[in-house]
Amino acid sequence: MKAIGVLVILGMLFSCKEKHIEVESIDKNEVQEVVYPEYTGEEPTKPEETELYAPVPPIVIPGEGNRAPSDAIVLFDGADLNEWISTKDSTAAPWYINEDASMTVKNRSGDIQTKRNFGSIQLHIEWRSPSEIQGENQSRGNSGVFLQNRYEIQVLDNNNNDTYVNGQVGSIYKQHIPLAKASAPTGKWNTYDVVYHAPVFNDAGKKTKSGTVTVLHNGILIQDHIEIKGTTPFIGWPKNVAHGKAPLRLQDHGDNSRVSYRNIWVRELE
Ligand code: MG
Repeated sequence: MKAIGVLVILGMLFSCKEKHIEVESIDKNEVQEVVYPEYTGEEPTKPEETELYAPVPPIVIPGEGNRAPSDAIVLFDGADLNEWISTKDSTAAPWYINEDASMTVKNRSGDIQTKRNFGSIQLHIEWRSPSEIQGENQSRGNSGVFLQNRYEIQVLDNNNNDTYVNGQVGSIYKQHIPLAKASAPTGKWNTYDVVYHAPVFNDAGKKTKSGTVTVLHNGILIQDHIEIKGTTPFIGWPKNVAHGKAPLRLQDHGDNSRVSYRNIWVRELE
């Protein structure tokens, strides 16, 4: 695959030179495969020998603040829950929409998930635990962001509220302890910025490449390209049943956690 990527890109470079055509972009996953032909020859003596003009990266216009950039899929901007359904029966998502462009878990109504299915993504999501403290340990401001409907990034009000560290805020639930606890004060908004690469399964259903995830919590690195071991169950070891693209899911923990979310968008990476 690498060799093919290299050949494709070298071919594009040479064809550009000869035919004077512009290549606007190529598969993002192949960009890293660029190998300069000069690497195998003599040391370059001119700067232009190591300067590339293709492939040209696409233009993406950033959103103001943390708002969605121009090429993102907006999953929630406060207007409605049209991108979401109830996980348990696929009816309209029953969570509350608030006047401040956020939504709040409707306790015991069940999880909600996107109508769309996703593979590898960049995700931005903001969450807030209620300022009125109720419960303790895993029952205080507990929710979760499930990548591909399976792999939970824990959401929890962990302020003055200890729990097992592989289930604390920002953990990959019961798999990866976060590098730091970077929570905003209880009742204030948090951001998660996530880069997720989905696992790969072969035709026989065996996992041939683990998923990976990087998470920034309020701009602080808490998961550094970690390898996802499998599903993230409350009881039991991680499981690896083959799957394709799947929804993003948000957890109703089933207690009085009343976690809110806002400003959710993704950029598809493949
Ligand atoms: Mg949770």
